[in-house]
Amino acid sequence: MRQILPVPDPITSYWLSEPHDLSNFRSTPKLPTECDIVIIGSGMAGITVAYHLLQDNESPPHIVIVEARQLCSGATARNGGHAKIKTNTLTSLIPSLGKDIDVLQSYVHGVMDGLKQIVEEEELNCEFELRRSFDVQLVREDSQRLKKIYDESRKAGHKWTKNTAYIEERFVEQVTSIKGATSAFIVPACSFWPYKFVTQLLARLLSRHPDTLNLQTTTPITSVTSTKDGFNLVHTERGIIKTPKVVFATNAYTAGILPQFKDIITPVRGMASHIVPSLPVHPHLSNTYNIDFGLEKGVDYLNPRPDGGIVVGGGKWMFIKDRNSWYNNFDDSVRFPLEVHEYWRSYMQRNFLGWEDSKAEIESTWVGIMGITKDEWPFVGRVPGEKGRWMLAGFNGGGMAMILTAAKAVAKMVRTDCEFEDAAKELGVPVFFRASEDRMKGLRDGR
Ligand SMILES: Cc1cc2nc3c(=O)[nH]c(=O)nc-3n(C[C@H](O)[C@H](O)[C@H](O)COP(=O)(O)OP(=O)(O)OC[C@H]3O[C@@H](n4cnc5c(N)ncnc54)[C@H](O)[C@@H]3O)c2cc1C
Repeated sequence: MRQILPVPDPITSYWLSEPHDLSNFRSTPKLPTECDIVIIGSGMAGITVAYHLLQDNESPPHIVIVEARQLCSGATARNGGHAKIKTNTLTSLIPSLGKDIDVLQSYVHGVMDGLKQIVEEEELNCEFELRRSFDVQLVREDSQRLKKIYDESRKAGHKWTKNTAYIEERFVEQVTSIKGATSAFIVPACSFWPYKFVTQLLARLLSRHPDTLNLQTTTPITSVTSTKDGFNLVHTERGIIKTPKVVFATNAYTAGILPQFKDIITPVRGMASHIVPSLPVHPHLSNTYNIDFGLEKGVDYLNPRPDGGIVVGGGKWMFIKDRNSWYNNFDDSVRFPLEVHEYWRSYMQRNFLGWEDSKAEIESTWVGIMGITKDEWPFVGRVPGEKGRWMLAGFNGGGMAMILTAAKAVAKMVRTDCEFEDAAKELGVPVFFRASEDRMKGLRDGR
């Protein structure tokens, strides 16, 4: 199989329609030959690790960020643009985690707080909105099952229920506008333009640290090897960087340069679209959505933009049977077949009350590559069994809700050489995010 590397000519997404000036930027024409830390990847993970490495640091390390393609052109620039934890995800964890699901909800809410804080402190212009989100069920049995779990959790005093409200079938179409809805939960969420968040944050860092922070775009890393005296050699076609510390922020592509992650973090393709009405529809949809059409069709996610347009993704049931078209597939240069993307045509008219005469049309569709793990959690911390290497990758479909605090933990580990447990305890990172050989073995053995 060919090496898992970002393909050079990805489709443009709606989020990439306003490219940043740094898109193809190289701080120096030549690749630096040495530095203190190399960060591989310039998505949400790579740039927020850089941010936390430099934050409140009186002796900033010399960092080189190396990106295979244009700045932030991976999943961060191709997603649904919203951060939340779905009720369905939380409740599915009760059998294995019990009350610990409260840890996960608190973690995600901490990420949302952290995103808002950075947007405000760094004055990022990225359409950040603190919102509520509807988790809508269309299948009545799913509604009944979830309501039962919700009631039991409420009675048991689980914290997650305190910030979650339930809408019964009688009112749910009226409240959510979703045709055929049988229930919904209302949960906290935030939405933003992830590409603008990341690129503007990096621009701030580069102007603050012109001598110590170096960005090298369009530079694929083909391997990372070790020297006998404990250094990493980061190999590219433009030369080699020697460094004591490497952070792998490579999400879906991790196994390309850490081969032990083959079948542990697997690249999969997903699709999304941007839909615009001929005139803005009123009242404005102010909540985001996850719409659960049931086991056969799956869950779509929907993020109304402040200008009246809609970003909506999912539609997995349209391509799931054609496994090669999505599983272990890291090609975001080609769309799914036309009939798959046609799923988005008249999507709003079909599903939303009040949108029938909106003349809403597809403005663009695109694909993006997620890094999925069998236990559905990311790998965060030291690269198991390797010195001078850290990672945060495998964020499945939820990196916007999970990355920021994990990045802070990784930055702390890199800065202080502390263990995952110390950073996780201080920052509230769930212990099941830890990258470990045991966990890898368990996933390989199907445990
Ligand atoms: C269609 C779709 C919809 C989604 N919707 C949502 C959503 O609504 N909410 C949510 O929370 N999450 C969503 N996600 C998931 C979310 O986008 C990801 O979890 C998140 O963007 C991962 O960020 P990252 O920085 O780890 O990875 P990426 O943004 O993919 O960044 C990794 C970077 O590493 C670079 N790289 C990789 N290998 C190399 C190499 N060898 N050399 C140099 N550079 C390399 C890549 O080019 C890339 O730029 C969605 C994903 C997709 C695809």
